[in-house]
This record gives sequence, structure tokens and C-alpha cells, in this order.
Amino acid sequence: MNTLPSDLVFFDRGWLSSNSLLLLGKQTTLVDSGHFSHAPLLKELLNGALERAPLQSIINTHLHSDHCGGNAHFQSCFPALDIRIPSGQWREVLDWSHMERTNEGIGQSCPAFKATSQINPNTEIRINDRVWQVHAAPGHDMEAILLFAPLEKILISGDAFWENGFGVVFPELSQEEGFKHVRDTLSLIGDLDPNLVVPGHGRMFTQVKDSLNLAYQKLDYFESNPVSHAKYASNVFVKFKLMQEQRMSFSTLKAWAVTCPVLIQTREHFFPHVSFHEWLNQIIHDLTLKKSIAVHGQLLLNL
Ligand SMILES: [Zn+2]
Repeated sequence: MNTLPSDLVFFDRGWLSSNSLLLLGKQTTLVDSGHFSHAPLLKELLNGALERAPLQSIINTHLHSDHCGGNAHFQSCFPALDIRIPSGQWREVLDWSHMERTNEGIGQSCPAFKATSQINPNTEIRINDRVWQVHAAPGHDMEAILLFAPLEKILISGDAFWENGFGVVFPELSQEEGFKHVRDTLSLIGDLDPNLVVPGHGRMFTQVKDSLNLAYQKLDYFESNPVSHAKYASNVFVKFKLMQEQRMSFSTLKAWAVTCPVLIQTREHFFPHVSFHEWLNQIIHDLTLKKSIAVHGQLLLNL
């Protein structure tokens, strides 16, 4: 299958929010709820597709704020909503202070929600008339999962696999093993041999072999040069902040950055020879060259 069947509806709202996939049927289910700031917009989009039926469950591929940020909003709209999260993060979510610390650590925020059930890797779940295999997808996030519909060969890959690569490999930033897990996850995806991939960000794609090759090339490069991965990650964190705020003065951005644990840690470990200020200027310069942000006097604008 090269296109989505009519009971699966894809929502792409840019890069601040993850993509979402709505599974229509008796058990209406949303995979990933995007960034909290886009939740009312996503609710409007869902209203059109749900035709007054309530949303019954949300499944999160992993618990980064751009994937589960809308959970709280949907839980308030649909009080009986079942929020199903990867089992590896169950304990963390039960005591929200853990989640708060994790989000603060990467300079992001996510409204608190109540998870109601767990999804275990190496199992199958039936949603409406379709069986989905649940696979562990460590690397970008160690507890992330993939969902794969074997009959139609549709893969929901979260941030483990995109058309042009994969998400920041978080464990590597704290000197834990991450690249090896990314390699294993890419190998698993190769074995599943999907026909259609619904990624966490960017458009859906069918040229899976080309994208796998590209992902392996990036992984090889990052593995041989971890500083390049740290640079990429730092640019992503600053860009994400600007996507969220849309515009910030340089001084406000700097005030945030100097207290952002992941940026502090990344600079100290990978770029100890430059001052924080110089390093941040370099990130802004890189993002400006890529036309990812613009600098107007003292003001930084998201593009
Ligand atoms: Zn994401």
C-alpha cells in the first residue's frame, strides 16, 4: 500500500508539533497529539474527521513535548479518553515531577496529563479492524515505540526514522550509548520493509530504501564525529525554542539558554574551548545561514 487507507487520517502541522495520525472506527484513536500550543487547532481538525464521535484513545510514540503536548487538552475535552504510553515511561508519568524535570532539562514545557494505560514493545494490539505490531525503537528516545501494520506494511515511526534521517540522539548528549541503538532500530525497520512510512515529522514517504540509506549515512557521520551531532542537536534546541516563541530578543534567548540544562551540558562536554556566549552566537549564525531564523537588530525571528 502506497497511500493511507481512508480510515487513517494524517495531520501535518509543521515541525513544532509532531505529525498526528487519526485511526477512525469504533475505537477512534490518535497517535501523538503534537505540541500543546497547537492542541486547539488539532481539535478543530479532528472535529471535521470525527463527525461528533468522541476521541477514545491517544497513543504516544514517545513522550517528548512535541508528541504528547496536546494530551492534557484532549483529556479535558474527552474525559473518558484512554491515554496509552510506552510502558518504559509509565513510572515517570505517574509522578509528574519526573516529567517536569525531564522537560526542564531540555528547555521545553508540556502540560500535565494522566496516562491511563501502557503499551508494551514486542506485542500486538488490535485497533478497529487492524492489527498493529508494537516494536521498541530506542535511540532518539530510549523508551520510544514503533507501530507497524504488517498486512498493509504501514509504519508509524515517530522520531526514530524520518524521510531525511532521524531525531536528535538524546542519550549521546549525556555520554550514554545512543548511536548503536539507532543502528539497531534502523536495522529493524529494514527488516520490517514498510511500503509507507508515517514519520513523526515531515511528509509521509514510500522511498524507504533511499531514506534508510540517508539515515545510515547520517549515523555513520555522527558516529565518527560526535561533535557534529552535538552541534546539530544544539541548533535543534535553539530552533525549537524559537518555533515555540516565534520571536525573541537576543538577550531573552540568552537568558533562557544559560539556564537550559541540555545546552549547558552539551557546551561543557563538546565545546569546552569556547565561551557560552560565543557558542550561542555560532548557533544563531548557523541557523541564520540556513534561513531557519532571521536576525533583525536585537530581535530573532523564527522563519
Ligand atoms: Zn518529535
